[in-house]
Amino acid sequence: MPDVDGLKSAVSRAVDDLRPALERTSLAIHADPELAYQEHHSADRLGALLSSCGAPVQRPYGGLETAFSSEIRGGGGPMVALCAEYDALPGIGHACGHNLMGTAAVGAFLALRAVVPKLGGGVRVIGTPAEERGNGKARLIDSGAFRDVDAAMMFHAGTGDELDPLMLAMVSVEVEYTGRAAHAAARPYLGINALDAMVMSYNNISALRQVIRSDSRMHGIITDGGAAPNIIPAHAAGRFMVRSPDNRYLEQLKVKVQRCFEGAAVATGADLQLRWIDQCDTLTTNEPIVEAFSGNAAALGRAMRRRAQSDSHGSTDMGNVSSLLPSIHPYLAIAPQGTPTHSVEFARYAATPQAQEAMIVGAKALAMTAIDLLTSPDLLRRARRAHAGNA
Ligand SMILES: [Zn+2]
Repeated sequence: MPDVDGLKSAVSRAVDDLRPALERTSLAIHADPELAYQEHHSADRLGALLSSCGAPVQRPYGGLETAFSSEIRGGGGPMVALCAEYDALPGIGHACGHNLMGTAAVGAFLALRAVVPKLGGGVRVIGTPAEERGNGKARLIDSGAFRDVDAAMMFHAGTGDELDPLMLAMVSVEVEYTGRAAHAAARPYLGINALDAMVMSYNNISALRQVIRSDSRMHGIITDGGAAPNIIPAHAAGRFMVRSPDNRYLEQLKVKVQRCFEGAAVATGADLQLRWIDQCDTLTTNEPIVEAFSGNAAALGRAMRRRAQSDSHGSTDMGNVSSLLPSIHPYLAIAPQGTPTHSVEFARYAATPQAQEAMIVGAKALAMTAIDLLTSPDLLRRARRAHAGNA
C-alpha cells in the first residue's frame, strides 16, 4: 500500500520549493498578456520552467504553435491531465487570472514528477491556449491530446472557493447581410438595406429572449452598420453569443436564433451569411474527483463550498473536456466576493500576494488529487461511473 499521506506531504513540499520560480513565472506572464493563439511568450516561460527542472517539453503540441505538453509515466495505470491556461483578454490583460492557473498546473506537474514513477500511471501537463476565444481545448481534443487521459483537472481563479461552478454551454455566431447600395434620398427604392436586416434580427433576438428559459442567455453586437447616412447600407455585420446550462437546449436555441436572422433576411430581401463557431459544452464537474479535491484543499486550510443558486460564471472550453472524460474545474478566490471578473480590477488582483497564495494552494491541491487518482482504483472507478451517469 502506498503511503498516500507521505506522498501528499512530499508534493506539497515540492511545490513550496518551487514557489519562488512559480511566482516569478506567473508575474512575468501577467506583465506580458497575450491573446488567444498568440501566447508565444507565455508558452515560452512555462516551457522554460519545465525545462529548468529537467522535464522534456513537446511544442508545438496538437498542431497548435502555442500549445505544449510534458508528461511522466510510471508504467501502466491511469493517465491524469493537468490543463494549463495562459491567454489574456483584449485591452484588460490577465483579467481572468490565467497567469496563475497555467503556472499552478505546471507547478503541480513538476511536484508530481518525483513521485509518479513509484505509483504507476502517468501525469501530463497540457498547455491549452485560447480559452477566452478560439476554443483551444476543442482543437486539442480533436488532435487526440486527451485520447488516453482518464481524468482532467485545473483550477480557476475566482472570487470564492467554489467546487462546482456553473459554466454555460455556449456558441458564437458571425452574421453578415448583403443588400444593395443606393442614394438614401434620391433613389432609396433601388436599395436593399442590410442594416435594417441587422437591426431587425437584433430586435427579433430581444423579443425571443422573453420566451426562453431564464437560465439561458443571448447577447451580441453590431460590428458594421454601413458607411454613410446618405447611402442605403449594402453591408452589415454582427457577432452574437448564445448560452445555456443545458447542452441540448442550446441546440434548440440555435435553431430559434437562426430563424431570427433568416426572418430579417426575408423581410428586407438582404442575403444572409451566417457562421456558427466556437461551440463549447456546459461544465460537468465530476463529483468523486471534486470531493477528493475538496478534502485536499481543506487539508491546506481552504474550506471549499458548493455553488449557490445565484452564482453564475461565463463559459469554458473545459466544458468540452468534461463531456469527454471525468474532469474538475473548481474556483479558488484571488479577489474579494463581488469583484467583477474580466475587469481591470480583477487583473490587478491576479498579481497580488493573495493571488500567488491561491496559485500555490491550487498547485498543491491538484497534485494531491492526482495522487488520489493514481493510488485509488476505487476513486477512479467511482469517477468513471459518475461520468457515465452524466453522459
Ligand atoms: Zn478564465
